[in-house]
Amino acid sequence: MLSEEQLEELGDFEDFLEFLAFDPDQPRDERGRFASSGSREAASASGKAKRTGKGEHHDAAAAAHRKAEEFHAREADRRGALAAKARSKKDRERHLAAREKHLDAGSHHHEQAKVHEEHAGILRGSLDTLKIPHEGISPETKANAEKAIVKGGYAKFLKHAPISELAEHSGAEIDSFSGNLVQTANGLYWRGGEGLSILKSEDFETRFARSKGLLGKKKAARATEPGEHVWSISSLASSPEEMQQRTMVHELGHHVHLSSSSPLQKKLDNEIKKGFRERVHIDPSSITDKDPDGRVETVPGKWIPSRYSRKNYKEWFTECHAAYVYHPETLKARDPQAFDLIRRVRKHRGME
Ligand SMILES: [Zn+2]
Repeated sequence: MLSEEQLEELGDFEDFLEFLAFDPDQPRDERGRFASSGSREAASASGKAKRTGKGEHHDAAAAAHRKAEEFHAREADRRGALAAKARSKKDRERHLAAREKHLDAGSHHHEQAKVHEEHAGILRGSLDTLKIPHEGISPETKANAEKAIVKGGYAKFLKHAPISELAEHSGAEIDSFSGNLVQTANGLYWRGGEGLSILKSEDFETRFARSKGLLGKKKAARATEPGEHVWSISSLASSPEEMQQRTMVHELGHHVHLSSSSPLQKKLDNEIKKGFRERVHIDPSSITDKDPDGRVETVPGKWIPSRYSRKNYKEWFTECHAAYVYHPETLKARDPQAFDLIRRVRKHRGME
């Protein structure tokens, strides 16, 4: 993430344009300007990237700075060669001084290019730029994870609160206690290590087909909006790829909720617990001799984003958060309090 200072520096080329002006041998264009170094173009591309904050403009600015960097490297070489061939001490010193200036200007452009490249990478949700270890995951999973990072507005946040690992797991695993083949979760988030694991992309094809009723006889009634009639926000996806992305958004929502222990986050956490208790309870009429624990139900008159969000306050939070990302209008209309709570948590974590 760029600091305010770095942002300030972008596009600020006054100083070194000025010192280039002291080099009488600097190539000039037909109007006598020092245009051929590419510094001017780089400065203006930096300014544009700074104004719009768009990834494509950061890419363009990085390219412009790389070009200027190359120019100065060539000029530095040329002046070095001229210095070696110079006949007088004065000439040699003049060329060597110019060479120094080009080397300085080149390293300046180099640094600026790196800043723009990093910023563009962050905006693209690049796992590499964000330095999230992801060894062994498929290119599909990587691409979906990066899309989810962008969609959920997680990129800058992950720069400050990185996850330790993004792993991939398969749809069924042997349970180490029972020895049975058990179906695994779509996604997992673990605290302490702050890592997460996502179901393999090919296994989402099966899960997606099942959730849409495409595998069984059941003709799917296609829900498109959150609410307790759907299992989860990710089951509302319209393709296996989107299902994997929505799962990633869900898991990273846990990270937003659980990876801070600031006093404000603790206060927000209490609000989340309270919010959950107000919406979900054990239906007293369901407690029987046969079922002494009773059934978890939505409090009459209350709205929840999915059945899965009944599980506990953490799942309620992250399902509301996924609804905030994918169905903001519905969440705002059906549960404005939850919408506001999510917004405040995101604000606290630097996401809004
Ligand atoms: Zn979860």
